[in-house]
Amino acid sequence: MIAAGFESEALLNAGAGTLKSTYALISEPLPKISGWHRQCLIWESGTPYLYLRTTTEGRVIVGGEDEDFVNAKRRDALISQKARTLVKKFGRLFPDRPLEVAYAWAGTFGETKDGLPYIGVHPRFPHVCFALCYGGNGITFSVIAAEILRDDFIRRTNRDAHLFRFGR
Ligand SMILES: Cc1cc2nc3c(=O)[nH]c(=O)nc-3n(C[C@H](O)[C@H](O)[C@H](O)COP(=O)(O)OP(=O)(O)OC[C@H]3O[C@@H](n4cnc5c(N)ncnc54)[C@H](O)[C@@H]3O)c2cc1C
Repeated sequence: MIAAGFESEALLNAGAGTLKSTYALISEPLPKISGWHRQCLIWESGTPYLYLRTTTEGRVIVGGEDEDFVNAKRRDALISQKARTLVKKFGRLFPDRPLEVAYAWAGTFGETKDGLPYIGVHPRFPHVCFALCYGGNGITFSVIAAEILRDDFIRRTNRDAHLFRFGR
């Protein structure tokens, strides 16, 4: 069973999705921001997308600004520039709330054409199960993968397994 995230691409030779670089920052704590309905998650679905969320201590996480390459050195060299852009974009939404960056970082991010993960046996590796939970909902997909692969292991039918199979 292989659940090695983006490292699995090395085995599959880009046969399961595309990898990108993504950027995020977390701010110093802020007082409650008026005009931000219930401090809910905000996800702008444009290209490039932007997402914002708050933490229980009143910090703001802002992310997006993806780049179409995977090279850790090149990716990390852009962190301060990307953080400045994310702060600017936050400022457009909440102009009266200056944001002080506490930490900014970057990560590799995987995408598939239909936005769904790949879970199950790969045709080239008939005795191997993969859990490739790519995408912006990858953490939720991880739980789905655990359930599907558990069912496969104990030979129980899982009604959703076909949705995530390779070659769908
Ligand atoms: C900045 C950023 C923000 C994100 N935000 C969200 C979000 O808000 N919500 C959401 O749902 N998803 C989010 N994601 C996506 C989510 O993190 C991924 O889609 C998800 O973690 C993928 O799960 P996975 O189990 O496939 O791989 P991973 O979580 O990457 O797990 C793979 C594990 O395998 C290990 N590994 C690698 N190679 C080997 C090896 N050879 N041997 C042993 N172990 C190995 C790795 O160290 C790692 O622990 C975000 C991703 C990034 C980069």
